Amino acid sequence: MESKKEMRELFCFSNYKSITKFVNNLEKFFLQKKNTYLCSSNSIDMEQIDKTYLNEIKNVDNVNVYFGKTLEELKCVISDDGFREHEIFIKFSGPRKYEITKVNLPHLPYQDEVYNSINEIIDTFRNHVINLSNYFFELEQIDQFCSIMEPLHPTYKDEYRKIALDERTWLHIEVTPDGAAKNIYLIGQSEAWNDKLQKGFLTWDHDKSIIDNIISTFDISSFSNKHHIILSEPVTTMLEKQHCAICLCEELPDNPSVPQPICQNNACGVYYHRSCLYEWLLASAGGRPPAFGVATGSCPTCCHPIACSLLEK
Ligand SMILES: [Zn+2]
Ligand SMILES: [Zn+2]
Repeated sequence: MESKKEMRELFCFSNYKSITKFVNNLEKFFLQKKNTYLCSSNSIDMEQIDKTYLNEIKNVDNVNVYFGKTLEELKCVISDDGFREHEIFIKFSGPRKYEITKVNLPHLPYQDEVYNSINEIIDTFRNHVINLSNYFFELEQIDQFCSIMEPLHPTYKDEYRKIALDERTWLHIEVTPDGAAKNIYLIGQSEAWNDKLQKGFLTWDHDKSIIDNIISTFDISSFSNKHHIILSEPVTTMLEKQHCAICLCEELPDNPSVPQPICQNNACGVYYHRSCLYEWLLASAGGRPPAFGVATGSCPTCCHPIACSLLEK
């Protein structure tokens, strides 16, 4: 009974300023109680929380370490040169067996391997973060200068951005690990925007940043005030989040995509979730799966011809 109380106090994480202190106390506790604890069947002993594991945690340098839901799960936070913080989740699955369970970054190679030590994972992760420095920089520039429509809460985990060019036209762009742009296309495009984009592809300058290319491609110096403001103000103040004219929701459970201006009739102001419009067009065509994955028909709101695939483009 007495020991149970001590255990409770031991695991009261608010008592600790650092994980090292906790690990030290844990070790001390087990040394004192070793005999008592080995006798009772449902107790934790030193074997279960491997001693090398505790030592490993204490020896991790320049990284903040936190326990997850169990003592076997760790969250490590490392800072990079740009003062950004990156999280990696590690699971201890036996002596000298560590696995990466989650990373809040894309493109991490060697994610499915088993590692000998926490430091080995941290080193791999730190190198990965260093290699992504152009990627971070480009995303930050885009987020700073553009109105991001999707993702709703952009992070470094998302390699793409949907940027509002105006209320009816978005630009989709993806950023590669080394900071180049790829897979660029328009959503709800008007011909004028499309012409600019086609010209922009021909003159795209890979020595310049993505945002500089966007600015010259879409000729932002000649933008009317309104467009300029849209591109430079935070999206929440300038562009209201739109609901989908079919399901009437803004967000769908299990689906990160937001309603988009898919209808190309400029007089039609509605937005649709791609999946909602696709299902709608499919149902109006009698449920037959469309050729090449592109459902066609007329806009449920304005009856203008419309096309939609589940995948974008
Ligand atoms: Zn919808
Ligand atoms: Zn329409």
